[in-house]
Amino acid sequence: LYVDSPLAEGQSVGLDHERAHFLRHVLRLDRGDPVAVFNGRDGEWRAVIDGFGKGWCSLTVAEQRRRQDVTPDLWLLFAPLKKGRIDFVAEKATEMGVSRLWPVFTRRTDPNRVNIDRLRANAVEAAEQCERLSVPEMGEAVPLDRALADWPADRKLYLCAEAGSARPIAEVLRDAPPGPAALLVGPEGGFDQSELDELAKLPFVVPVGLGPRILRADTAVVAALACWQSLTGD
Ligand code: SAM
Repeated sequence: LYVDSPLAEGQSVGLDHERAHFLRHVLRLDRGDPVAVFNGRDGEWRAVIDGFGKGWCSLTVAEQRRRQDVTPDLWLLFAPLKKGRIDFVAEKATEMGVSRLWPVFTRRTDPNRVNIDRLRANAVEAAEQCERLSVPEMGEAVPLDRALADWPADRKLYLCAEAGSARPIAEVLRDAPPGPAALLVGPEGGFDQSELDELAKLPFVVPVGLGPRILRADTAVVAALACWQSLTGD
């Protein structure tokens, strides 16, 4: 269970209504029952339920069960999609170990689509489900050119480009030096040609192809991350 509090032996942790409800009525836990908790910094701990109140639950942290894991230093920049599909992206990218989820507005993106709280809630749920001990950081939703303006020079940005001329991602990643990286996937309507031309001029951008067919944006995210994982082992 993800908690937003420091974790140390004897520490008391209060849970909000939603989490209290989940423990009591979904998992059917009671006072004295153990719960595994993590906060993204201190590893996984065993905690014990002290009691439930009206809309709350308190726990006491007992001992550490796992040290904090190390996630790959991989960001995912993606153009916000429709509700169900953006939920899917947050969930799958979290399961695949992405360290930062960063919605960016491209020229063909609807800027009203991002709900960071919902994105984060999906990421928290996915982290809990896959037993990852961190939740991806959320980048502030900004236009793509703003996200790229302060781009760290040592971080490669793999641009998933459907145009067909890009080298296959597997080939590119096999030769890539290890280090910080990011993947960029466009919106349903793809990137604008002028946008692709501007991206091509940036020294840290490396176009990659995901095969001969045009994948939906959410499929492209999973395909790119699966290649990343199988080639880097992360
Ligand atoms: N309407 C666009 C077109 O026909 O050019 C297709 C956009 S595609 C549905 C959404 C995004 O997924 C693209 O911007 C790209 O980032 C990624 N994508 C889809 N298929 C791809 C492929 N075969 N190789 C690389 N990226 C791909």
